[in-house]
Amino acid sequence: MVDERGQVTAEARVPTPVGADAIIGAIAGLAETLGPGLPVGVGAPGLVDAEGVLRFAPNLPGVVDVPMRGQLIARLGVPVVIENDATAACWAEREVGAAAGSNDVVVVTLGTGIGGGIVSGGILQRGANGFAGEIGHIVLSADGPDCPCGMKGCWERYASGSGLTRLARERGVGERGEEVTALAAAGDVLALEVMADFAWWVALGLVSLTYLLDPSLFVIGGGLVEAGELLLQPTREAFTGLLAGSRHRPPVGIVGAALGERAGAIGAALLARQ
Ligand SMILES: [Zn+2]
Repeated sequence: MVDERGQVTAEARVPTPVGADAIIGAIAGLAETLGPGLPVGVGAPGLVDAEGVLRFAPNLPGVVDVPMRGQLIARLGVPVVIENDATAACWAEREVGAAAGSNDVVVVTLGTGIGGGIVSGGILQRGANGFAGEIGHIVLSADGPDCPCGMKGCWERYASGSGLTRLARERGVGERGEEVTALAAAGDVLALEVMADFAWWVALGLVSLTYLLDPSLFVIGGGLVEAGELLLQPTREAFTGLLAGSRHRPPVGIVGAALGERAGAIGAALLARQ
């Protein structure tokens, strides 16, 4: 539950159950616990269309074409807003987080994959169907590693947790991303090289997004940004080197997210308030 300034005033969580009916029941239960009678916002991990139908959620088995908004309205009798979770997180960062006051910002969530949200000209971009911001599947190398989406060489194959893990294994710097960041923080030269290579791939995607959207700010969120400046500084350097005419443009900010893993929930709640 959030107030008008986006401050969290109450919080509850439950593990995500299996199956659409159980998930809707869990959300309804949380809403009734936290704020009976109040509008509800949901940030859902998948393709959410303009009618509030969760079309496809790759990490929620069996959740396909679920009319989540309609079912929650029927159950709770209050206004319900449903957005893709990365889109909702973007709105939270723009309203009350690291991008407060920015009208042209892209929020990039680096985790297992890459999520994205876009505010352009001050307006949260949803696209024709609500599916805008699926930036992790921009193809950077047509003969690159296989992606679960069916393509090869998507940005998230390189610049997500699995991308960092692959770079770490190739260089013999541990088996997991956390090991690389811990070693890099301790000054390990090989680990710092892996971080620089990883940051180059992050920057490569940011450069493409800059050509498309001309943002003034990128907000980097997700588990990988816990590395902080160890990731952000080499990303800024690679970005400046890759972007055409970067000396002749105003600088584009690249900063860490402010709201952490709660950004999606906060953004969904703010959208419900609005
Ligand atoms: Zn893909």
